[in-house]
Amino acid sequence: MVAHNLGYPRIGSHRELKKANEQYWAGKITHDQLAEAGQRIRRDNWLTQQQAGISLIPCNDFSFYDQILDWSLTVDAIPERFRPLAEKPGVRELDLYFAMARGYQQNGLDLIALEMTKWFDTNYHYLVPEFSKAQSFSLRSGKVFTDFEEAKTVLGRIPKPVLPGPVTYLLLGKEKEDGFHRLDLLDRLLPVYEQILSRLEAQGAEWIQFDEPGLVLNADEQQQTAYATAYRFLRERFPNLKFLVASYFECFGENLPLATQLPVDALHIDLVRCPNQLDDLLHTDFVDRKTILSLGVVDGRNIWINDLNRSLSLIQKATDALGQNRVWVAPSCSLLHTPCDLASETEASGLTPEIKQWLAFAKQKLSEVVKLATIAAQPDSEQAKIWLIENETVLAERRQSALINRPDVQQRVRQLTDKDTHRGAPFHRRQSIQHERLNLPLFPTTTIGSFPQTDDVRINRAKFKKGEKTLEQYEAFIRVETEKAIRWQEEIGLDVLVHGEFERNDMVEYFGEWLDGFAFSQNGWVQSYGSRCVKPPIIYGDVYRPEAMTVRWAEYAQSLTRKPVKGMLTGPVTILQWSFVRDDQPRRDTCMQIAFAIRDEVVDLERAGIQVIQIDEPAIREGLPLRRENWETYLDWAVKAFRVSASGVRNETQIHTHMCYSEFNDIIQSIADLDADVITIETSRSQMELLDAFVQFNYPNEIGPGVYDIHSPRVPTTEEIIALLHKAADVLPVRNLWVNPDCGLKTRRWPETEQALKNMVQAAQTARNLV
Ligand code: GLN
Ligand code: ZN
Repeated sequence: MVAHNLGYPRIGSHRELKKANEQYWAGKITHDQLAEAGQRIRRDNWLTQQQAGISLIPCNDFSFYDQILDWSLTVDAIPERFRPLAEKPGVRELDLYFAMARGYQQNGLDLIALEMTKWFDTNYHYLVPEFSKAQSFSLRSGKVFTDFEEAKTVLGRIPKPVLPGPVTYLLLGKEKEDGFHRLDLLDRLLPVYEQILSRLEAQGAEWIQFDEPGLVLNADEQQQTAYATAYRFLRERFPNLKFLVASYFECFGENLPLATQLPVDALHIDLVRCPNQLDDLLHTDFVDRKTILSLGVVDGRNIWINDLNRSLSLIQKATDALGQNRVWVAPSCSLLHTPCDLASETEASGLTPEIKQWLAFAKQKLSEVVKLATIAAQPDSEQAKIWLIENETVLAERRQSALINRPDVQQRVRQLTDKDTHRGAPFHRRQSIQHERLNLPLFPTTTIGSFPQTDDVRINRAKFKKGEKTLEQYEAFIRVETEKAIRWQEEIGLDVLVHGEFERNDMVEYFGEWLDGFAFSQNGWVQSYGSRCVKPPIIYGDVYRPEAMTVRWAEYAQSLTRKPVKGMLTGPVTILQWSFVRDDQPRRDTCMQIAFAIRDEVVDLERAGIQVIQIDEPAIREGLPLRRENWETYLDWAVKAFRVSASGVRNETQIHTHMCYSEFNDIIQSIADLDADVITIETSRSQMELLDAFVQFNYPNEIGPGVYDIHSPRVPTTEEIIALLHKAADVLPVRNLWVNPDCGLKTRRWPETEQALKNMVQAAQTARNLV
């Protein structure tokens, strides 16, 4: 039975790619040195897969920044604004590539980078292709060919090139002008695929993997036709190449008949995300064809060891229906979304041995895939029995571990009642009670929470972590920073202050470190975009809050001022969304456990005299399932979790929430259902257009549409902020409006922050005088 892989992490097991890229960008290493660093990572990855026993090894899955950007260069989909750079003599392809990824300001050129957005429902970001009406495509970059040649040499056998599928590639892009649909470009794109495949075939390629995760999205007729057209076109021209179409992250839904009838040699399905897909598929005439079915049974999105028996029963079902020769085994999707190697977890401060044995990172997942293929082929072998017993033992230990199970926590979630999800009084009554108590002016000003994390802050935290500073020294430092921030906010006249979050490394990690049920790896990095990697916490057990997490800092900040200081928390959905979540209970249950922990913190903050508490939920929207039919269920529990966290306090305590991405049109009802007293959102880049959803909906609660973009150091003028406030006041009740920046300020520096906030406060004062 063939054990194959769809893609391998390319950051290197010690983030070698990040380091090399950043050194190159800083001019510290040469182009050749960077190329060599890439070569070393590719070589290691290929050999790792070969040694693990993977028989069909992917190539062209490596990328210096992003595989979709690679492809835009391959097919010459270079936006017009980059042409001057592309055509400039002596400009290297890699430099053009990085310019498209990161923007370019040199030699009199000022080119804005391609937009970046989330890759399906992952935390990976790809660079969005830009298409024009007159778009043409041609073969430009030869990366896929050199990669193939290189892999062939390293491996001594034929690798499997991975190509973005033509339809998914177009779907992931954006029309930059009106009057056409990007799928209209398929006819122009396919001839380039033809050229690419001819060359790969001439180089000796046998299997080609087309990644078409677009197949799991709700598709209209035009989209469905596009898939059929594309693969018919390619099939006719390449009767001898073998095509594998890979889908992942969801079920096919209405695309099932289409997917099963594609004229390809193998179809990959994600049985982790959609275990029922196998039955569905085996009930179609797929069974009567010759197509191979690749079973994604090892979770490429999470870090738990595989339940071998469970996977084997799926494999068995497939082989019973299709025969051994038509079944392959693979991870559910590319392993890009998992950390590289559990063996790098050596430091004592990281994962305990007990937890470690429950985990598999990318390298370990390769062995799982191979084990499954081996056992499926020879279920009665001695080796198979040993592997199965080992696996069963660890899984049983995990299920029963005292580390995981907290009956009190489980009971609390089971006993959740309506009362837990409701504030004492409806919003309009809370609003008058809060206005009376807080006595804020119209257009109250506030910020989203964090202030600049200066080098000084980072250095002090690093020293504390390394043991070069004592806890007392570190905390004394944080106290000084906090006090400075409070004094300064008072001075410029902000109305609701924040403590500045200087004690926090990251808005999820900070809470994970305080909560039981969370573990942290030392080296479990996953690519987020380009050279940016994240190390998600691992939620392995029932979540419990042994002690207050933020009260001390909030209390301290409040003691310094008579103005209200906003307590600052991360919400349950965001904590869930940005972690590796346990797979032994529904996500909803884990989310609800976190919600109760946050609820207790909210109540403790109130008890400590904090009158305004913000529960950040920037990840609510990105948690939306890929298929519409699953939205309602998700939104239902996500909203409930937020309400559990927010509803433990009295009416006079004001609950804020904050969300970054503000495309709320299709989920505005759920945003309103959160029933936060105040929501702050990002709107400045769209000139308040993103408020429309709230206006049309008659959003009842208070709202702070961000008045300036914090992603750039640019300081907004008072006048432009006033203009935005007018815009907002034209469409929303003035008594519901707040004035704040778009998001937290931790990535900014102090000079621009000071000036921007001064202008913001002044704008609010002017606006007050006008009403
Ligand atoms: N309170 C957080 C901060 O200001 C919120 C950040 C976010 O939502 N992304 O940093
Ligand atoms: Zn934000």
